[in-house]
Amino acid sequence: MRTWIGNVLLADGTGRPPESGAVLVEDGLIAEVGQPPAGGDCEVVDCGGRGMLTPGFIDAHGHSDLSAAASPACFGKISQGFITEISGNCGLSPFPLTECNREHLNDLYRQYGIALDWTDWNGYRRFLKSRGVQMKLEPLCGHNTLRAAVAGYAQQRLSSGQLEEMVRLLEEMMGQGARGLSSGLLYTPGCFSDREELIALLKVVARHGGVYATHLRSEGAQLLEALQETFDVARAAGVQQVQISHFKTAGSPNWSKLEPALELMEQARRDGIQVGCDRYPYVESLTQLSVAAPEPWGSWDDTTLSRWLADRRHETEFLAALEAGKRDWSQVRLASTGVTAYRQFTGMSFTEIAAIRGHEPERAVLELLREDAVGTMAAFRGMSEANLTRILALPECCCGSDESARPLDNSIGLSHPRGFGAAPEFFRRLTTEGMPVGEVVRKLTGLPATKFNLRDRGFLRRGLAADLVWVEPEMFRSRADFHHPHQPATGVLGVWIDGQRIYGGSHPERGL
Ligand SMILES: [Zn+2]
Repeated sequence: MRTWIGNVLLADGTGRPPESGAVLVEDGLIAEVGQPPAGGDCEVVDCGGRGMLTPGFIDAHGHSDLSAAASPACFGKISQGFITEISGNCGLSPFPLTECNREHLNDLYRQYGIALDWTDWNGYRRFLKSRGVQMKLEPLCGHNTLRAAVAGYAQQRLSSGQLEEMVRLLEEMMGQGARGLSSGLLYTPGCFSDREELIALLKVVARHGGVYATHLRSEGAQLLEALQETFDVARAAGVQQVQISHFKTAGSPNWSKLEPALELMEQARRDGIQVGCDRYPYVESLTQLSVAAPEPWGSWDDTTLSRWLADRRHETEFLAALEAGKRDWSQVRLASTGVTAYRQFTGMSFTEIAAIRGHEPERAVLELLREDAVGTMAAFRGMSEANLTRILALPECCCGSDESARPLDNSIGLSHPRGFGAAPEFFRRLTTEGMPVGEVVRKLTGLPATKFNLRDRGFLRRGLAADLVWVEPEMFRSRADFHHPHQPATGVLGVWIDGQRIYGGSHPERGL
């Protein structure tokens, strides 16, 4: 089976300006690039001089670990051109599983209606295959999952035997093809880890030439200390590839820290560490509402928090602590929840919700955490537009949606607008700032492919996978917002995975 796609600009993923040409696809691979003739037994896709053909986009930071299986068409991602996703981020991967973490993770993922009955990456890979998942998932092994597999979710320093067991499990996952280790040092139980633990694990990553992708211990008040810790442990372990996940300066008092943060990254580069980052092109983050819980509840896991709040005698104490935090609830929106009574308020700030319900915002937070701390997600506004613009433009900054693949409907929950709009918004912001189109395409394709050692994709090059996106640059726009986040992007005319066209065609706007 051969397909000729031509009469189009080719942006090849290297950063070079697009040039007119054609691509010949054979048996799922790119057979020729340049000016191959369209003759013979080829299926011909004549693009009519419209738009450009690029390698399949790579989402450098996603969370489709289970959502991709629950919704195998991965519509939110595919419709914006993402064909590959680096999954297993922020310390959370669906492997390795043991009796110490299986129940917790089943609870965490229960909205997907999937029983996690595998143990390792190989088992999980077979499961994804059996579901016919469209998108190519390339997971990292999550540090929180790994730690919990050995020691559960409680606060404790590991015994030497437990640490050895973690090292053994990570060695096994890397051997099975995990791309590296991700950490989520803000979350339990990763927040209990010390440098010694991280170094022991990163030595495994270094041996396999993998990536250390880190959701830093702090992205705001302790941002610089957290970066310093990252580079210290990477240096000590000999890890070459470091990726700062969703790199940001969170909270206005910390906006001035971008310059010193970039300087720390430069220093690490001078020491031979290849430092990259990824970023979603928005100034509102999305995470569990439970991160807004004050201490000591903030370091509890979500299931325990819900159970504790279910005892009404604890209400007054918790509300008082929340109120003492004096958070500006107009800057926090409800993004998604399993609590039926609150679903109608998604997209609204907690101040707006409280006004409608006639009580304080803190009570809404309490009720949501009591009923569904695991599944309630909130968007926090606390990032600087100017810093976002600078971070996106960094030559080593990839696009990372930080989202799960979802269908058009809300059957598996609502996403941040980035779930449908990260790539077009990344593209729009950078081209509007004057970055050449070829360079923006590199940041969506060749850059993450190289970073995560995906040697079979990321460029328009003979012999690589025929993962292709046909896109019209001036029409490539996100239509998703917080009130209507599940809106496919405009301007994507075609998506091919391993040479098979799975999006676009005679009715490009209708898609799959
Ligand atoms: Zn994260």
